[in-house]
Amino acid sequence: MDNVAFLSLGTNIGDRLQYLHGAVQALWEHPNITVEDISSIYETEPVGYLDQANFLNAVLKISTSLSPHELLDVTQGIELQLGRKREIKWGPRTIDLDILLYNDENMETEKLIIPHPRMYERAFVLIPLKELGVEVSERTLQGGVSLWRQKNGGDVFGLFESLKDTHKKVLPEI
Ligand code: AMP
Repeated sequence: MDNVAFLSLGTNIGDRLQYLHGAVQALWEHPNITVEDISSIYETEPVGYLDQANFLNAVLKISTSLSPHELLDVTQGIELQLGRKREIKWGPRTIDLDILLYNDENMETEKLIIPHPRMYERAFVLIPLKELGVEVSERTLQGGVSLWRQKNGGDVFGLFESLKDTHKKVLPEI
């Protein structure tokens, strides 16, 4: 698991905490991914398409033996598994998973741009990234983001304490 990557998670439909939990759980269970750390959960006003509910956002630090494209296949698989529908660009979604950083790589292919092209303008990404120890320019941190659930120690699932007994229902059987 030599590669370090940061992923952003966002959700604004239904039981948002359940969707975050489902995504973390699916990554956790993947044999080629170790979830190293998770930020606090933040609540964010929508950008782009404004007529929609507030988002919950968080950032994960993972280590992985997967290549960037293999990782994208996994994150897109989780989006599908958790029922994401792509109807309106920047519109409501059950869960959105983006690859923010992968080691120090800079890459641009048809399917994948790393670092994520819009991350530097998104406070809901930069604030949790900073919390996980990534250097972020203070000038780029802007409003619209508030702390929703504070991270508690190193336990990745501590944030989802209230879901302990229900999380198995989140992921449909394959
Ligand atoms: P979105 O609907 O905003 O999640 O965008 C998904 C599309 O962005 C997919 O078609 C991906 O191939 C593409 N993409 C480009 N760079 C990235 C990245 N760093 N992380 C996730 N998706 C990416």
